[in-house]
Amino acid sequence: MAEKLDFISSSIRTFQDFPKKGVPFKDIFPILKDPKALATVIDLFEEYVRSSYVQVDLIVGLDARGFLFGPLLAQRLGIGFIPIRKKGKLPGPTLSVVYSLEYATAEAEMQQDAVTAGQKVLVIDDLLATGGTLWAACELLRQQKAEVLGCLVVVELKDLGGSDKLKPTTVHSLIQY
Ligand code: AMP
Repeated sequence: MAEKLDFISSSIRTFQDFPKKGVPFKDIFPILKDPKALATVIDLFEEYVRSSYVQVDLIVGLDARGFLFGPLLAQRLGIGFIPIRKKGKLPGPTLSVVYSLEYATAEAEMQQDAVTAGQKVLVIDDLLATGGTLWAACELLRQQKAEVLGCLVVVELKDLGGSDKLKPTTVHSLIQY
């Protein structure tokens, strides 16, 4: 386990002051460049989900880098994937929530018929910073009466307190800074 986490960690690069001064941007794209690293990330998420939950109905991925990991994990688990997107990208009737990011504000949107009441879902993104994005996603899902079991991220920036913001919803992160 520790070896796998070290391997993933070595595939994440930090770009200081991107996209603006003071932000240590964690670049997860090298994970996708290395098929072994990507498979390891999905292995670890799969192991965690299988050992933590009896039933998960859907994986919900966040725009945009949650889309890189979410469908792969959903396939491994044999369940469906649905997206939560930035405003204006999804057709048909939608619901939306405004939220604040580490370096902007935004609006998250999902299709009204994406989940049905009582479905058990896990939300996935590449990174947890302030928690605003995952909070908005969980809020949208709860408006739809879905049961949010928890959140999954590759990277968690601990100092920004995102996991506190999301309480009582739990966040499982593979790598912490
Ligand atoms: P937050 O809502 O503050 O938790 O921000 C999380 C979202 O913003 C995720 O979708 C990340 O992709 C992106 N993000 C925020 N901060 C960073 C960072 N330092 N490095 C990379 N991505 C980030």
